[in-house]
Amino acid sequence: MHLTQEDALVNLRIPGPTACPPDVLDSLSGQMMNHRGPEFGAILERVTEGLRPFLATENDILILTCSGSGVMEAAVVNTLSPGDNVLAVSIGAFGDRFGQIAEAYGANVTPLDFEWGSAADPATIADAVRDTEACALLLTHNETSTGVTNPLQQICAAAREAKPDLLILVNAVSSAGCIPVEPDNWGIDVLVTGSQKGWQVPPGLAMAVVGPRAWDAYETARMPRFYLDFGKAREFVAKGQTPFTPAVTVFYGLDLALRNMASEGTEATYARHQRIAAHCRRRIEALGLDLFADPRFASNTVTAVRVPDGIDGADLSRLLRTEYDTVIAGGQAALTGKIFRIGHLGWVDQAQIDAALDALGDALAQLGYVAPAQAEDHA
Ligand SMILES: *Cc1c(COP(=O)(O)O)cnc(C)c1O
Repeated sequence: MHLTQEDALVNLRIPGPTACPPDVLDSLSGQMMNHRGPEFGAILERVTEGLRPFLATENDILILTCSGSGVMEAAVVNTLSPGDNVLAVSIGAFGDRFGQIAEAYGANVTPLDFEWGSAADPATIADAVRDTEACALLLTHNETSTGVTNPLQQICAAAREAKPDLLILVNAVSSAGCIPVEPDNWGIDVLVTGSQKGWQVPPGLAMAVVGPRAWDAYETARMPRFYLDFGKAREFVAKGQTPFTPAVTVFYGLDLALRNMASEGTEATYARHQRIAAHCRRRIEALGLDLFADPRFASNTVTAVRVPDGIDGADLSRLLRTEYDTVIAGGQAALTGKIFRIGHLGWVDQAQIDAALDALGDALAQLGYVAPAQAEDHA
């Protein structure tokens, strides 16, 4: 795998869309093909099988042309009916969004919020599943807005024990491909992800793993659906097609990216994310900055950092962008101006994180920031 980015003009350190390798970028300029012909059928099959080891599933993998939010909506509308009791666990902005989608389609949603920066607690969730008589549980694996990875396996186990026929729908948009997910082993009924986060390709495709319990629910689910209909997608997969015109060029890119990812290997890919994330956190702390996430649940794909006192987060982002060609993400919703975030997912190596952290240290100094340890020395 080639992980140098010498040609890149900008060190894009947002948690998606993420930078793509040069060979993937080249593949995107391929000529169009008949999406109802055998060549596309072959690509669809290769891509689906290439995703399988990273999605750790024997169940159906469906690939839709939409963003991550689109496939979150698909998970909801294909399995639920208006009036269903749904428990929406949230530890940040994307958890909130999942609940809002279910509510928009008429589910009876009970939010279960945990403090932003912390992880969701399995026992509390299990109690809430019992109390609300929920038929479905909405979970976010990796909360991109706070840099926290939920203990998904433990949550699923506790929730499943509380209600054996519970439907568990999981947003793994910013974890799958980078952090292990095991939908079959962990009892997840629908797990969704999106191309532009950990998969080393541009935005445009979204994937759903759909298990047997979800297909049973699909048969009776009454929320309206058309474009996002899982049944139609499954029917067309059997013919080597998608129901509607797919993002053909993103398929070209994903075909190549998955070949690259297979040659790196699942375990090595996960280990690289873990190593780089740990390195990023160490360097943040060395600058005297505070990490936002509970360290026990710090994400391996995105690191959230508190904006230090006396520094304006917007000024910091602007300076990094204009003078250091480094693009970081700000805080979302209630965290606007309070944190900034560094993405380290997909096509990333340590050199890119070092470059970003060097730039961050210089930009902070330029804005007058003095690290606490140095401040003490000066006192
Ligand atoms: C990026 C992201 C999404 C989806 O965002 P889109 O802009 O719709 O692709 C959803 N959930 C999480 C956790 C994400 O990181």
